[in-house]
Amino acid sequence: SWSRGLGDVYKRHMQELAERIIEELSRPILWAGRSWPLTCAIGLTTFPADARNADDLLRCADLAMYQAKRDDTTGFRFYDSSIHQRLRRKTEMEIELREALSEGRLAVFYQPLLSLDTGRIIGAEALLRLHGRDGRLVLPEEFIPIAEESGLIDPIGEWVLRQACADVKDWLDQGLSVPRLALNVSARQFRNPDLSKQVHEIFADANVPTAMFELEITESVLLGGEESILDLLQELRDTGLTLTVDDFGTGYSSLSYLRRLPVAKLKIDRSFVSDMLKSDDAAAIVDAIISLSKSLRLQVLAEGIEQQAQVDFLLSMGCVEGQGFHFFKPLPAESYTSLLSDLPVA
Ligand code: C2E
Ligand code: MG
Ligand code: MG
Repeated sequence: SWSRGLGDVYKRHMQELAERIIEELSRPILWAGRSWPLTCAIGLTTFPADARNADDLLRCADLAMYQAKRDDTTGFRFYDSSIHQRLRRKTEMEIELREALSEGRLAVFYQPLLSLDTGRIIGAEALLRLHGRDGRLVLPEEFIPIAEESGLIDPIGEWVLRQACADVKDWLDQGLSVPRLALNVSARQFRNPDLSKQVHEIFADANVPTAMFELEITESVLLGGEESILDLLQELRDTGLTLTVDDFGTGYSSLSYLRRLPVAKLKIDRSFVSDMLKSDDAAAIVDAIISLSKSLRLQVLAEGIEQQAQVDFLLSMGCVEGQGFHFFKPLPAESYTSLLSDLPVA
């Protein structure tokens, strides 16, 4: 129709305008002898197709702008209803998370970590799960990003720590021999300057020895390379626990920085382990991480082991710790407890 054709013409004009603005703004600014890059995200919305009043139009433009930012640091994006749908799903998941937290529908699962040469259980990783209203078991990839964006990761992270401590206390009280426990802490939790104080308090409240715990941090935590992060890691280690770099190889941490970190272990990312028998590149990366850990005198653990052939390959390269479905999937606390009960007393 005539108006639709006109709408397309307008959209083309808007697009050209957005491209010109981005082009102008993306010229680096020279200041104090350095060049400073600028990024710019633009959200575009049309009247009357998207909304019929100024407030709603602005809201649509805002959503489109955030989407543009998420897709790419610099760029533009027209509003469309999929943006709205995604936001609705996000809001629903946020509500689900809040309710799950207050209604006790979160659970900590435990995946054993093994010594690859002896097959003995040397520890476990605590992994968060959500029991959905519909009875579905929801995996972290569906809700951790939303928990991080909404800030819910702080109370949820605290809950995981308290729950894991309570479980450990329970096992110790039952007289079980309890191997070390690894806990995941996300980058967003590192924005909290009181993190180490909180962690310390939680362990003290639960009356469990801090030395039984490892914190797993992802490389993204380290990326900024800021001194404040280094201080925070040092403080955490001073509470008596050890630090592990999770998903190692997927980020870009510099080696000189890595050397200064108070970490004790690197975890080889699952993607390399699953590809290493089919891809020389993946095998070379695994090999390099193992050598790196040796020269920096760090422990190394391979995650996502699904076949015996991978175990053999890792052992031949000198990696003696691992976890994966080949041995155990993450287990509900009760199943892990029975597993511990069956272990020979160390
Ligand atoms: P991650 O810390 O790298 O945890 C390992 C993930 O690999 C787990 O996924 C585990 O189930 C999965 N995995 C282990 N072995 C195998 C295998 O052989 N094959 C396959 N295909 N997968 C395997 P999960 O439990 O879905 O957790 C995903 C991510 O969510 C974790 O990755 C971690 O980054 C995050 N996460 C989990 N629990 C927490 C938590 O309590 N706090 C925070 N901040 N993040 C958590
Ligand atoms: Mg982990
Ligand atoms: Mg990992």
